[in-house]
Amino acid sequence: MNKVENCPICLKHIQPENKNYIFENDLIKVYHGPLESNIIGYLYIETKRHVENWFELNEHEMLEMSNMVKMLSSILKKEINAERVYTVTISEAIRHLHIHVIPRGENENVKGLKLIEKATQKKVDTKNELTQMDIDILISCVKEYLKIHYRPYRQ
Ligand SMILES: [Zn+2]
Repeated sequence: MNKVENCPICLKHIQPENKNYIFENDLIKVYHGPLESNIIGYLYIETKRHVENWFELNEHEMLEMSNMVKMLSSILKKEINAERVYTVTISEAIRHLHIHVIPRGENENVKGLKLIEKATQKKVDTKNELTQMDIDILISCVKEYLKIHYRPYRQ
């Protein structure tokens, strides 16, 4: 069965990059989350291969995923002063394995599971409305940081 045909993440990967694209190597891709989630610094790390479970990852993919979590959480601390950075994989509605990296700012009242729900369910928050320009600025910072600091764990 060709899973690419039914998988929104695989389909996204073979299309021209969308405006929230940040980074890729031969194993993973990184995007900013949707504007509708209204969370600056909400990021996705996605495997390039269609994989649905952690146990299907090979050693290189595992290292890239964890390396990227480390790098992105460090960037979010520096760039938007994230007090906490939540990481979660659900892969229920969309089975293709992806990590949600969700920062919680110092002054954010919504915390923990509520914030994760807000991010992943795109619950619209009317106050403090985020703009695409805010996202674009952060994307530039993340790209710049990765250009300087990213070192693949592969030879
Ligand atoms: Zn897929």
